[in-house]
Amino acid sequence: MRASLTAFKPFQPDRPLRNAGGIFLLTTLFYFIGAELRLVEALSLFWPLNGVMAGLFARYPWLNRLRYYAVCYVAMLMYDAVTTSWGLASVLINLSNMVFIVTVGLLVARDRRAGRKRPDPLNAFRLFNYCLVASLLCAVVGAIGSVGIDSYSFWPLFADWFGEQFSTGVLIVPCMLTVTVPVFNRAVRPEDLMPVAALAVSVLASVVIGGAGSLAFPLPALIWCAVRYSLPATCLLTFITGGVEIILVANSIINIAVATPLSTPLMFSARLGIATMAICPVMVSVSMAAINSLMQQLSLRADYDFLTRVYSRSGLYEALQREKASRRHRFLTVMLLDIDYFKSINDNYGHECGDTVLAAFARKVQEEVGEEGLVARMGGEEFAVVVQADNAQQGIALAERIRRAIELHPFSWRNQSLFLTVSIGLGSSKLDASPLIEIVNRLMAEADDYLYRSKKAGRNRTTTHHERADMPQGHDTRPEEV
Ligand code: GH3
Ligand code: MG
Ligand code: MG
Repeated sequence: MRASLTAFKPFQPDRPLRNAGGIFLLTTLFYFIGAELRLVEALSLFWPLNGVMAGLFARYPWLNRLRYYAVCYVAMLMYDAVTTSWGLASVLINLSNMVFIVTVGLLVARDRRAGRKRPDPLNAFRLFNYCLVASLLCAVVGAIGSVGIDSYSFWPLFADWFGEQFSTGVLIVPCMLTVTVPVFNRAVRPEDLMPVAALAVSVLASVVIGGAGSLAFPLPALIWCAVRYSLPATCLLTFITGGVEIILVANSIINIAVATPLSTPLMFSARLGIATMAICPVMVSVSMAAINSLMQQLSLRADYDFLTRVYSRSGLYEALQREKASRRHRFLTVMLLDIDYFKSINDNYGHECGDTVLAAFARKVQEEVGEEGLVARMGGEEFAVVVQADNAQQGIALAERIRRAIELHPFSWRNQSLFLTVSIGLGSSKLDASPLIEIVNRLMAEADDYLYRSKKAGRNRTTTHHERADMPQGHDTRPEEV
């Protein structure tokens, strides 16, 4: 079910007709919802269409085309033509809707072009400002358009349009940009529901206590939600809370001005207050997302050696932890590799050359080991390889393959070829019931011992307790230019 929902993509860059149809349907649907809400006097303050469409155009940058905006506009005009007798005034009123939608759509698209990759969790503060600018522009056109229809003068109409656009925009656009099919990685526990419960209680408190300050009651609960839940969930809860507050205030269920009937300026202030509140949890949630992604990057960075791209020492142990379940083979081989006379590379060609050679060396070793084994940089120019095998001989053969491959490989540095050799110490044993890490530690000590012997015996060789694995090269193999 979830897979099919995720696979459902109503808008796609290469489906212009479907996109146009989708925009037409969505515009008509939300125009209908807005118009129905208008009929209920208390809900006449809620016009979700602009926020929804602006969010849609912002979410899918490829929809930012004149023709798609035109489809949206035509859908509005057609709805009015069928259901109202506004005549030409409808052209201007709907133009004000379009001004909001196009302004937000274009500003977010500009952000994406500027390489600010993620307007999804979005820079919430920037989005807040975009809604502000879009609402101001929209209110100018809308107020001019409705002067003829309503009996109000320009400024009250302007305030009304602005307040409505701004509050619904700030509530809906972040939702539209982030909404996804929910994924529950584990069963929901009672304590997971505490922030929502607190949210419900705080809204209830607003109703019971009333007064202008009551509008801010849900803020702590919303921030708690932001810390505990994902960004899409936070945006959705914020939208629902803000919407509910607007409805409750409009209905005088939350009574922000006790004993006086609600007048326009009060409503204006209430909407602004709610909009301002709404952005706070989104900001917290964005920071949480950023912190989490940073933590993930950091732990990934700690697992890999930055220079050579193989596992770090700690990363190797992490990988071994994960590996413990799969014991497909009977033998485990641990090798320690130490490059011979590496210091002279640094001395002769510089540290930068040393670094380049180290990275190339690690690549070469990884290439020989393949996907099956683990390669790690244990420090300096010392590396470890851990492989499972059917018998000890396989490990020895691999070590020799690596040694030969390194010996024959020309490492290039500024149009020169450098040749290296490596000494290898090898420990291997049958896999028994003891923990993998324990076996590896034991074999690591053994390998270290044999590495020392390889060095002592003249370098460029593999040594293990089974037998001498190779024929030594018999001469000093200092790196030399060829
Ligand atoms: P041998 O192992 O054959 O005894 O000789 P060696 O010269 O390789 O010996 P040793 O282990 O004492 O020296 C290792 C040198 O590796 C010391 C240091 O200059 C160099 N080295 C360690 N880490 C790095 C690194 O990250 N970059 C560079 N460029 N050099 C490094
Ligand atoms: Mg060395
Ligand atoms: Mg060393």
